[in-house]
Amino acid sequence: MSVVKPLKKLVSCVILDLDGTLINTDGIVTDILKVFLVNYGKQWDGREAHKIVGKTPVEAAAMVVEDYDIPVTKEEFLSQITPMFSERWSNIKALPGANRLINHFKSHGVLMALASNSPKSNIEKKISYHKGWRDSFSAIVGGDEVTAGKPNPEIFLEAAKRLGVHPSSCLVIEDSLPGVTAGKAAEMDVVAVPSLPKQSHLCSSADEVINSLLDLHPEKWGLPAFQDWVEGTLPIETWHIGGPVTRGFGRGSKVLGIPTANLSTDGYSDVLSEHPSGVYFGWAALSTRGIYKMVMSIGWNPYFNNTEKTIEPWLLHDFNEDFYGEELHLVIVGYIRPEANFPSLESLIAKIHEDRRIAEKALELPIYSKHKGDPYMYNL
Ligand SMILES: [Mg+2]
Repeated sequence: MSVVKPLKKLVSCVILDLDGTLINTDGIVTDILKVFLVNYGKQWDGREAHKIVGKTPVEAAAMVVEDYDIPVTKEEFLSQITPMFSERWSNIKALPGANRLINHFKSHGVLMALASNSPKSNIEKKISYHKGWRDSFSAIVGGDEVTAGKPNPEIFLEAAKRLGVHPSSCLVIEDSLPGVTAGKAAEMDVVAVPSLPKQSHLCSSADEVINSLLDLHPEKWGLPAFQDWVEGTLPIETWHIGGPVTRGFGRGSKVLGIPTANLSTDGYSDVLSEHPSGVYFGWAALSTRGIYKMVMSIGWNPYFNNTEKTIEPWLLHDFNEDFYGEELHLVIVGYIRPEANFPSLESLIAKIHEDRRIAEKALELPIYSKHKGDPYMYNL
């Protein structure tokens, strides 16, 4: 009789990073540095963001002071900028899937720890604004409680110790390279969820790289599976976006045979930055035509500045004319899959049609069809 060995070792506990993994700190870092650097006649360039993500506050400060040639010490810089951050902590949003993940593991009795390079008091303050989080973690380790922060493994080893488990029983979830490196050095399994776009290649030492917390499948690690997927779709908290239909690049109809009704992202970059790239679905209302089923992609478009995401909805109806300029309102109700690369145009088209079938069928379910009556659909 042969014995089938599991591909991955099974874990029983989860150690989570905070900034960029559970909460959307990156947007705040960008906002603050943009404003702050103007005081020194400098302009924040978003392309530097990857250099500071996951670093300790002192390391990040040193990096900015040096890169932008600011005439202060890193300590002075930190003392000037820290109050600007603490003012914003109450407004840092949970990343999509963070509440779902915490509630899921908590309800299944999976032990969780937080391990962050931030000082412990800052971690406590930041999570205090998120209902139920503090009580969900059996241990919290701050960067000021260890001799060396990530990428040193000490912080994760300390978290395992406080949970009372062996390091090999822990799954680390991390957004940054220093965090992934630290997790692997602690001999733990590591799932990377890069918080900055197009950084997944930097996390190649992770055991798995996922696009967002929505794509985590805990059963792969021997942890209880999420039970909220319905017929290949994940219900999400609904959100809205709308505006006049603009001309896109013609790729949709000409190359793919899939006519998308493009929306301008002007004024919506904040909304889009909150949502992971991927394929979603929901309802679409056109001011003079009615309400239709819709499947759409959110993602990075090489034609645009690489800090901007685009949104490309496909209204699932055969229209016999264009409707550029017509007001379009969307209510997004569910998630299907992350953005993916395809080996050929044919396989991409086949996947988009599969997305269409999944969305069309799912939208008949009461959990999604009820949102057809969302007031935003009638407010055109
Ligand atoms: Mg992080």
